[in-house]
Amino acid sequence: MPLRFFNTYSREPEEFKPRENKKIDIYTCGPTVYSRAHIGNFRAYVFEDLLVRHLEARGFKVHRVMNITDVDDKTIRGADEAKVPLQKFTQQFKDAFFEDADKLRIKRADEYPAATDQRYIDKMVAMISALISKGLAYQADDKSVYYRIKKFPNYGKLAHFNLDELQSTGRVKHDEYDKEHIGDFALWKAWDEDDGDVKWDSPWGSGRPGWHIECSAMATALLGDQIDIHCGGVDNIFPHHEAEIAQSEGVTGKKFVNYWLHCAHLLVDGQKMAKSLGNFYTVPDVLEKGYTGRELRYALMRVNYRTQLNFTWDGMKEARESLGRIDDWLERLRGIAENGPSRTGGKRSTSHVQRPTEDSEFEKALDDDLNISAALGFLFETIREMNRAMDENKLDPTTASVWLNWWNRINGTLDFESDDIELPEEVKKLAEARAQARLAKDFRKSDELRDKLIALGWEARDTKDGQKITRRAGAK
Ligand code: AMP
Ligand code: ZN
Repeated sequence: MPLRFFNTYSREPEEFKPRENKKIDIYTCGPTVYSRAHIGNFRAYVFEDLLVRHLEARGFKVHRVMNITDVDDKTIRGADEAKVPLQKFTQQFKDAFFEDADKLRIKRADEYPAATDQRYIDKMVAMISALISKGLAYQADDKSVYYRIKKFPNYGKLAHFNLDELQSTGRVKHDEYDKEHIGDFALWKAWDEDDGDVKWDSPWGSGRPGWHIECSAMATALLGDQIDIHCGGVDNIFPHHEAEIAQSEGVTGKKFVNYWLHCAHLLVDGQKMAKSLGNFYTVPDVLEKGYTGRELRYALMRVNYRTQLNFTWDGMKEARESLGRIDDWLERLRGIAENGPSRTGGKRSTSHVQRPTEDSEFEKALDDDLNISAALGFLFETIREMNRAMDENKLDPTTASVWLNWWNRINGTLDFESDDIELPEEVKKLAEARAQARLAKDFRKSDELRDKLIALGWEARDTKDGQKITRRAGAK
């Protein structure tokens, strides 16, 4: 089956055909660095990470650009309130973004252009000038420059609405009376005193770019006039991505993006997780509860990207359990691959476990619009069957090695494998004492030691292969 993606533009699943054989350009809207990103934002970035890794696993060479929005209303307001220069204000959140992305094992993009880089400001000015000369933009009495959406026939194609609907809805802000059409959006915002010293020169006077033109300029500057895939969360479809199309295609006359992929929201109690609603958690919030980055990565990745995902602490516990199953399976598998079947007392029989195919159900599921729930379903079904075979001493070392190779291959996409945690000395000693107590069948002592471990934030689990010590979730 060919690779296919659901394209927001057509609202259909489409076979993926790159413009250039095996090379793909991807642009993804990055964070607006006015505060620390929340895990809803990171759902979008984790989905994009899965996309890129699967494409790479399928042999594509991916060139990925993710922008950093470091100037807009919110960043300017934030810097003003903190009484620090804009650049200093945004830097702390850029750093936090990379720190959190690393915790979630998100692979770095090839480039992270920042909107305030003079190179891109110049490109924005050039694009706006081109739009004005084509009659697609105008400077209004308030000195700002707006896009004339009525002149762009395709406006509304991505979000699937027509202009008349837009006219009848939406509150008119007093500063928008200067526009010809309520839907006309700002390309260049004339400086006003709230902007302080944040301003750039332009043919229209000093001011700053609108958010939408930032992305059109950075995308076309780094990837050219046409892009294979553009991603973001569904809230970006309108107006942001609709505007990106109008601007980029308005300037170049070429189709800007071939495939638009949007991920559904992360919810809390049925509502979108959002800064404005105050119902959000950051990555450090989740880590403080005792969870690890890979557990959060699992929790954010496990549901298909076009399905809404409700964030709960139970979901985090499930993530921990699921990863624990993978860890245990790998350990048993490695034991057999290295030493042969563990219980040699029984009759040695040949393997009853099938070997993975070159192109397994895992990869095929991801080919189908990144169907991660089917892909993980296959993984856990495989684990179940293999555990059964291992219980019955029916897995030979060669088959175990073949499955380990398969795991290494798919883990290149999932990146779920545990880092070997170095246990603190005190924890190590308690764990050893507990293992001894269990051997001596002194269960009272073993329980006491378990409680001591819990008090230190660690959990002792008893598995077929002995005691396992893991970090404990703080959430009750
Ligand atoms: P922003 O920093 O607000 O521009 O958002 C960065 C990215 O996160 C965009 O792609 C948004 O669409 C996405 N996003 C924002 N909130 C959520 C959410 N609750 N769930 C999933 N994605 C989100
Ligand atoms: Zn964008």
